Amino acid sequence: MFRNFKVVPKIIFGKGSFDQLEDILSERRKDKKSFMVFLIDHAFENTDFKNKVPLKTDDMLIWTDTSAEPKTYYIDQLVQDIKKYKDALPDGIIGIGGGATMDIAKAVSLMLTNSGSSEDYQGWDLIKNPAIYHVGIPTLSGTGAEASRTAILTGPQRKLGINSDYTVFDQIVLDPNLTQGAPKDQRFYTGMDCYIHCVEALTGTYLNAFSKGYGEKALELCQNVFLRDSKEAADELMIASYFGGMSIAYSQVGVCHALSYGLSFGLGVKHGIGNCIAFDYLEKFYPQGVAEFRKMQEIAKVEIPRGITKDIDNNTLDKMITVALGLEPLWENALGKDWKKKMPKERIKELYLKM
Ligand code: NAD
Ligand code: ZN
Repeated sequence: MFRNFKVVPKIIFGKGSFDQLEDILSERRKDKKSFMVFLIDHAFENTDFKNKVPLKTDDMLIWTDTSAEPKTYYIDQLVQDIKKYKDALPDGIIGIGGGATMDIAKAVSLMLTNSGSSEDYQGWDLIKNPAIYHVGIPTLSGTGAEASRTAILTGPQRKLGINSDYTVFDQIVLDPNLTQGAPKDQRFYTGMDCYIHCVEALTGTYLNAFSKGYGEKALELCQNVFLRDSKEAADELMIASYFGGMSIAYSQVGVCHALSYGLSFGLGVKHGIGNCIAFDYLEKFYPQGVAEFRKMQEIAKVEIPRGITKDIDNNTLDKMITVALGLEPLWENALGKDWKKKMPKERIKELYLKM
């Protein structure tokens, strides 16, 4: 069976394109009484960014807490707050931030029209009703969340996305200016998420010409940014992120992402940094990719945390291994159909204990 996947229908790209948001939204505002909900990363709370956001009097502004990765209970709480705000559903949800805020916006737009808790929908194609119109505006480049059909959430049982065609944004605004103020380390971690998406897609068994086309271009753009000090770095990394997302949409990620999901579930390590921690120990799987990653790290002068599993207890370690092993498509993509023989529990444990 071939995957028949939905893509974002409307994209605007370029430095300053954020200024067109007002026009884009005005087409969606039904009447004078209706409202939009802006979910904006709390990093912008004490800046003058708010003045550039086309907020109308009745609109709701929520600063998203991204100090940890999005949890299902946080989504459920936001949905309750929005429902109470005017006793009516909004005309749109606009998520402005990194991958976490974009995922929050996707999940909230879905949960406003689907009953129950967001944890009931972690999985594939469990969503029944279309979402509220939703817009994604990245302020960090790398995750590909702007392009993907998933909203990744951590629930009581698992870290797993709400994957559905309804999850895909209706509109994205790719304005590289919005990424300019990001801290250097964060820019690197999130950028490496994109680089690793490309390495894992391009070396995987699920690769096809579609995924290869996007993946090779995204990889080249990452190399321009992190090895060659490109003058167009912000533009290039933003497009690399989108292309990387498109590449994995028709293939899959691999060993590094499986291990990173475990690190995040067990130890609360954030996605980009967890990828960097894990990737450094995967030269057996990705020799060229890991060598190049180390060069990029050296140039960027960014430290990768070490010794994070030093004091880990067996219970947490077991949970991490279970989460990682549960991601079967990732292992199959990386190691082929007989991946279970190649990756016994013990081998994962060994890798985790090195980190
Ligand atoms: P993030 O959204 O977690 O943000 C990281 C930090 O950077 C936060 O502290 C935030 O406040 C800050 N920040 C964001 N933009 C900033 C800016 N312009 N200036 C200053 N500070 C800024 O980071 P991320 O790496 O973009 O996203 C990681 C999240 O994305 C994880 O939750 C992960 O699960 C998710 N993800 C989703 C997908 C998907 O397809 N849906 C893919 C990969 C990762
Ligand atoms: Zn990733």
